[in-house]
Amino acid sequence: MSSTTYSIGHFATLLHAKAFVPQPELIITRLVIDSRTVIDPESSLFFALKAKRDGHEFLKDAYDNGIRSFVISEEQYLNAFPDANMLLVENVSQALQTLAIVHRNQFDLKVLAITGSNGKTVVKEWLYQLLAADFNIIRSPKSFNSQIGVPLSVWNIQREHTMGIFEAGISKENEMEALQSIIQPTIGILTNIGEAHAEGFPSVKAKLLEKLKLFKDTELFIYSPEYTNGIPTKDLPGQSKFSWSLTQKADLQVSFIEPIEDKTYIRAIYKGTEIECLIPFSDRASVENGIICWATLLSLGYSAEVADARLEKLNKVGMRLEMKNGINQCSVIDDSYVADIPSLAIALDFLNLQNQHPKKTLILSDLQETGKKESLLYAEIADLLKQKNLHRLIGIGPNISSMASLFDLETSFYESTQDFIDHFPAIHFYDETILVKGARKFEFERISKMITQKVHDTVLEIDLNALAENLQFYRNKLKPGVKIMAMVKAFSYGSGSFEIANVLQYHKVDYLAVAYTDEGVALRKGGITLPIMVMSPEPSAFDAIVKYKLEPEIYNLDILNGFIKFLPEGAVDYPIHLKIDTGMHRLGFEETDLTDLLETIQNSKKVKVVSAFSHLVGSDEIQHDEFTQYQIQRFKSFAKNIEDGLNYKFIWHISNTSGISRHPEAQLDMVRLGIGLYGHDGGLNQNKGLQTVAVLKTTVTQVKEIKANETVGYSRKGLLPNGGTIATVKIGYADGYTRRFGNGVGKMLLNGQLVPTVGVICMDMCMLDVTGLEVKTGDEVILFNGKLTIAMLAEQIGTIPYEILTNISQRVKRIYFYE
Ligand SMILES: *Cc1c(COP(=O)(O)O)cnc(C)c1O
Repeated sequence: MSSTTYSIGHFATLLHAKAFVPQPELIITRLVIDSRTVIDPESSLFFALKAKRDGHEFLKDAYDNGIRSFVISEEQYLNAFPDANMLLVENVSQALQTLAIVHRNQFDLKVLAITGSNGKTVVKEWLYQLLAADFNIIRSPKSFNSQIGVPLSVWNIQREHTMGIFEAGISKENEMEALQSIIQPTIGILTNIGEAHAEGFPSVKAKLLEKLKLFKDTELFIYSPEYTNGIPTKDLPGQSKFSWSLTQKADLQVSFIEPIEDKTYIRAIYKGTEIECLIPFSDRASVENGIICWATLLSLGYSAEVADARLEKLNKVGMRLEMKNGINQCSVIDDSYVADIPSLAIALDFLNLQNQHPKKTLILSDLQETGKKESLLYAEIADLLKQKNLHRLIGIGPNISSMASLFDLETSFYESTQDFIDHFPAIHFYDETILVKGARKFEFERISKMITQKVHDTVLEIDLNALAENLQFYRNKLKPGVKIMAMVKAFSYGSGSFEIANVLQYHKVDYLAVAYTDEGVALRKGGITLPIMVMSPEPSAFDAIVKYKLEPEIYNLDILNGFIKFLPEGAVDYPIHLKIDTGMHRLGFEETDLTDLLETIQNSKKVKVVSAFSHLVGSDEIQHDEFTQYQIQRFKSFAKNIEDGLNYKFIWHISNTSGISRHPEAQLDMVRLGIGLYGHDGGLNQNKGLQTVAVLKTTVTQVKEIKANETVGYSRKGLLPNGGTIATVKIGYADGYTRRFGNGVGKMLLNGQLVPTVGVICMDMCMLDVTGLEVKTGDEVILFNGKLTIAMLAEQIGTIPYEILTNISQRVKRIYFYE
């Protein structure tokens, strides 16, 4: 909440908006871009951005959620609601930026801005960790660094803050100027310039120059000459400059780097003397980020000793919200590294997305120091919890405990994490979604460990953001009005069930489809309210179909008659979907069935056709394009005959994933999007434009030296004639890594290197040949990801990506996350 108050009338003037403002005095404290993530609706201002989706489509939702103030760019909505304030502007995202600038201008504080190709978020979070003892810091939540994220971050600055740390990210030219005027940094940090995100720029140099615009008015600029492309120092921004380098003369000139177990010891020359530090990480990226933080501390005047002492305590940055299976049929969202209001609000939104359990619980520690009066701070949290409809709060720490009376929901309080753990056996958790959110010093990872199921070493990580991006990728290809049925059969192609369906529901697909009734029932039990089509509605399950309001696919007269007979007398217009066979020859009606089909439906009031569809057999391949056209034509004429016979309209659909990407003419009224959602499309060149959704990984359980002529595994199939080193990993054919991957056919990624299997694949394990590589127990092993793709695995064993994904057995734990 802003301490500087603005009325909606004031905003209307500032924005030169054409306005319809029935309540000009209304005070606005929050800026909102998503109609579903609202905290204080009355004092929120909703921006109808034209981003991935047109925000104007969500005005009604926002209004229904209580919002009464809007910034829009389409005149037709100016009087959409008689009691709402509407500000009409040219460009909504510019209006958001303008308000952020007005807000920023109220404050005179140290502001650090970070940009660069990689490391922005880690450096921002680390500087926060390093400087929090001395400053009251406001920083960008998560990686809010875009044209939208930056103004939303800056809007959070309040009177009590003494430092801001914001990151800025750009993807093309002419974007930085706006971010500079919003952040107005006094100190600038360039992390590095890599090849990443070079697409929007004519050259690496152009990218660099654009980024440097952020720092044009800074007092101090921190950088490495390794990344400034030979630009003379005098032409770099910053009244004063501080440089660091591993290879060149610099203010902080690193002279020696040595890994010591999981840490890295670094020595450097600074002001003519040798200084040192220890960074508690060993990977290259962390070492570079650590050096950037080191340079920043020194340039801010910290002594080498203090800098070293603080760097040594750096903590890993938990950048994503993960959801895991919990004990007693719970789901656990683990965010056990930070506790402040902006990140709590984000985590609560993620919690609210989850409908699979009837109850929602928050385990929350004392908040990190914010400089705000405790009673105000906790009152704000109490308010937040109420608005988010939380059922239970477990508060841990003396401060939150002393504010117990503020909370108006089921609560219990514990003095410390240990106190909670001591009482754990008596605390009841059952069938609920639990958000674990604690400041770092409370070590809530101990709590998450107790309430999550033991994860067997192999996990399938599902990136829910990427899934939503892929949905958007296909949505962008659709003509206006074309609906989407998302295929979530076979546990969403192995990726999950209600977790995936929840995201799809949230992103407003029109229909879901499953293969079997029990899959549909599971979704309904998980809180999914979208219409769901069941493709194999076995008669024994008609009962459940009706009970859970599922919609059967009807593919022949027997099923049709059986279902009509099953429906009780008096039932009317039960929705059904007709499957037409146009060439797949699997299930479906053919032209010869038309008369009987029409007669049966016309004679029964019990059912109503809501859609008719067919399935393309080769939409991904050029050689079948002619047949695809034949199928489309055959379907259209059949569907037309049914519509004419029944005398009403229904939805027509035929396209699957590669139908959408390759045959725009086949979109009809709806498309059925399947594997594309999960990141693969045989109709695209190398899946261009899609994001990787699923990563399957495991860890090395043991490393062994094998002597010449010894063999590995069952039947002595694994041969290492010259001896070598093998690593055993815990994934086998029972996990879905089929025996066909054995004897070197399958390859995995270990520390960035491709390594082959050796010997046959066992039920729960297999062995890798890691001869000549540095490998230790516990190292991560990737089965597939964005580099080693499911398409490559499919190729290795002569199958298709669909089989690779759906083969992964249910015993492999799924972890869902949002970046
Ligand atoms: C599985 C399936 C789809 C989706 O196919 P993708 O190639 O995965 O997009 C579409 N329609 C039907 C009938 C299906 O069974």
